Amino acid sequence: MRYQFMGIVLGLIVLTSVVDAKIKALIVDGQNWHEVWPKSTIMMKQYLEETGLFNVDIQRSKYTWKAKREEKFLPLAGVGETEDLPKSKTDPDFKPNFSQYDVVISNFGFKAANWPKETEKAFEEYMINGGGFVSVHSADNSFAKWKEYNRMIGLAGWGGRNSKSGPYVYYTNEGELKYDHSDGGCGVHGPRHNVYIKVRVKDHPITKGLPENWFTAKDECYATLRGPAENLTILATGKDQSGKAPTDRHEPILMVIDYGKGRVFHTTLGHDDYSFEGVDFITTFLRGTEWAATGKVTISVPEDFPEEGKKSSRPFKLKE
Ligand SMILES: [Zn+2]
Repeated sequence: MRYQFMGIVLGLIVLTSVVDAKIKALIVDGQNWHEVWPKSTIMMKQYLEETGLFNVDIQRSKYTWKAKREEKFLPLAGVGETEDLPKSKTDPDFKPNFSQYDVVISNFGFKAANWPKETEKAFEEYMINGGGFVSVHSADNSFAKWKEYNRMIGLAGWGGRNSKSGPYVYYTNEGELKYDHSDGGCGVHGPRHNVYIKVRVKDHPITKGLPENWFTAKDECYATLRGPAENLTILATGKDQSGKAPTDRHEPILMVIDYGKGRVFHTTLGHDDYSFEGVDFITTFLRGTEWAATGKVTISVPEDFPEEGKKSSRPFKLKE
């Protein structure tokens, strides 16, 4: 009996350590103007957990904006009664315990509630000490006045940002990387379409094994982003071929930034649920998140990844 008991205890210890070996990810969200929210949070959580590599928690600001579509995702994201954002535009109670996580993913957006100063400081320390951060689509619209946040994500858009925020960074049609300090606004996009993606760094763990180019699922091609762009590497660019492109250049789409000992993966893709269904979105998001958490990528390129010059989507089915 005693040995059996010991066996059970040992088994539990092994099981616990296997569970603990998973990457701990935290999705932070609460205010996102995109009507798809919070379905997008649930999609990202499911994508991450389906790999078997991640445990995912969600922490929302209490001033959550209600989704305008598909309300069934509200309870799944833990959204009950909501409160309006106060005049201070800050959520004083938003205090995630960042240090418990290997990677933090932001699904906040334009005009998100500011974090209290102590949360900003805690996040800066978490990142400087080797944390991981993933900025998805309009998360790069948030927190225009938070200097260190802008340094972490490298480039950003909207929120009153301008030439003081830093240079435009892009590739010319001739393939030249430009840091452009000229005056002008920050953040614009044309209509949603299948964006032409070109890989600029082929041997980074996130892009290794991907085709040289492909088309996204229907999405927005963010353009004229500006920022400190320190320790920034553009892994892939997008060229707006919608016919109503705001720029005639290849804009940064997938980026990595070193911040202290921390790693940041920044994707400007992810406008709507059909954008989140792009196999290229899913794959680069998963690989980018694993890389931000661990510095390595073990997630392979799936068979349905778009071939060169093609697009590919995977319809989202909510796991019951
Ligand atoms: Zn959008």
